[in-house]
Amino acid sequence: MKQCLFCHQDMADDVNFCPMCGTPTDPLLQPKKVRWFHKTTSIVIGFFVVGPFVLPAVWSHPAYSKNTKIVVSIIIIVLTVFMTMAFIRAMKESGTLYDQIMKQTGGM
Ligand SMILES: [Zn+2]
Repeated sequence: MKQCLFCHQDMADDVNFCPMCGTPTDPLLQPKKVRWFHKTTSIVIGFFVVGPFVLPAVWSHPAYSKNTKIVVSIIIIVLTVFMTMAFIRAMKESGTLYDQIMKQTGGM
């Protein structure tokens, strides 16, 4: 005898689906419930919104292997560093531009 994972109904060992609720008896046959923050699109969009703070969602992902998590983490960290450097450079350039305008206009 085994028990349904969903409704705990007792059932024969040779059945693949619960006679009461239709839940597969093998956990591997059960449809994977992917939470919204574990969808790849959510992770990609989340990265552009919160940057490296999306990493916990990657690391808690049930379907990603450890190697995938490491690769995704490295990509996120590299992109974060790159975007931070690009942002700092843009700030410096806008500062230089501001100084030039000030000199040309006589510091109005
Ligand atoms: Zn059941």
